Amino acid sequence: MSLPKPRPDLAALEGYHSPQLDVDVRLNTNESPYAPPAAFVDAWLGALREVPLNRYPDRDARELRAGIAAALGQPAERVFSANGSNEVLQTLLLTYGGPGRRALVFEPTYALHAHIARITATEVVTAERAADFTISPTEAGVMIAAERPAVVMVCSPNNPTGTVESRATIEALLAAVIDHGPGLLVVDEAYGEFAEHSALELVADDVPLVVVRTYSKVWSLAALRLGFAVGPEAMIAEFEKTVLPYHLSAATQVAGCEALGFDGEMRERVGALVAERHRLAGALARLPGLTVYPSGANFVLVRVDGDGHALWERLVERGILVRDFSRWPRLDNCLRITVGTPEEDDALLAALRDALTKEAA
Ligand SMILES: *Cc1c(COP(=O)(O)O)cnc(C)c1O
Repeated sequence: MSLPKPRPDLAALEGYHSPQLDVDVRLNTNESPYAPPAAFVDAWLGALREVPLNRYPDRDARELRAGIAAALGQPAERVFSANGSNEVLQTLLLTYGGPGRRALVFEPTYALHAHIARITATEVVTAERAADFTISPTEAGVMIAAERPAVVMVCSPNNPTGTVESRATIEALLAAVIDHGPGLLVVDEAYGEFAEHSALELVADDVPLVVVRTYSKVWSLAALRLGFAVGPEAMIAEFEKTVLPYHLSAATQVAGCEALGFDGEMRERVGALVAERHRLAGALARLPGLTVYPSGANFVLVRVDGDGHALWERLVERGILVRDFSRWPRLDNCLRITVGTPEEDDALLAALRDALTKEAA
């Protein structure tokens, strides 16, 4: 007897790997170090008690979409919500990518963009970021003209580098997509609230731009799995064809709605994390043997002058887990450090100081 084989085009793929170890200080997955406000949890559970659990949830998540839209000053018809921004991206690529179409990514970037493109049978075309990890609009324009991608994926702030593309770069990419279209520019703003500007302002019904955001990072709600897209009404309406019916549970919809009532608390958390990012980046820059890249997110990428993987191991020995990118193409000896609480970051800095001196000795 033999078991069936998966689709041949999946053979070269691996699942998503982000090793989890049991350590005291976990600074490896860019979650918020702070729990959501207790009053939010109470409000959510209270609202959930009123939900008729024998009924399917609202297929169109109308209340949630209207709430998100109102908070962003957009019409509800421009908003699509799903189980995490990863499901948003999958829906988007199932709808606008697929066989015979290409997605352009700028490496190094979020690995799931290329991965989700491949599992939706979208061909991946790779462009290179500059040494400072920014996207060159000129090179991108040449690439877009030559490859005619159906979808251009830009992550800003970029994971794992922290790089924020300038407004001018986003506008130039959009212009290239329009000139050589019909294509779509997707800006993944999973960390958008930590940065100083957003592509959201460019969204309009006649512009081929979709901005994707999540409740996982900024809203302290990674466990919930809720993300959303903002784009032209006519494109958002097409997602209905590829997303599974009733995909977003009532518990998630209600949580998303209730969370919007705690916007002030969320903004405070964002402010505190941005201030802490500045402090952490400054302290890291003063350590010997580390290059710190500018970040507009809730994490900082550093390049180790030496063996990055060995340093990662020495941090694990000291009870600290950061994300090891040291063996990734274009990210030799790089480690990505999520901004934690001041106590967690102090523990990281102490461990780094210790590990770097031991290495030197
Ligand atoms: C974390 C992350 C996401 C995924 O977020 P979910 O909403 O939890 O699925 C998407 N894009 C980037 C760049 C991320 O870092």
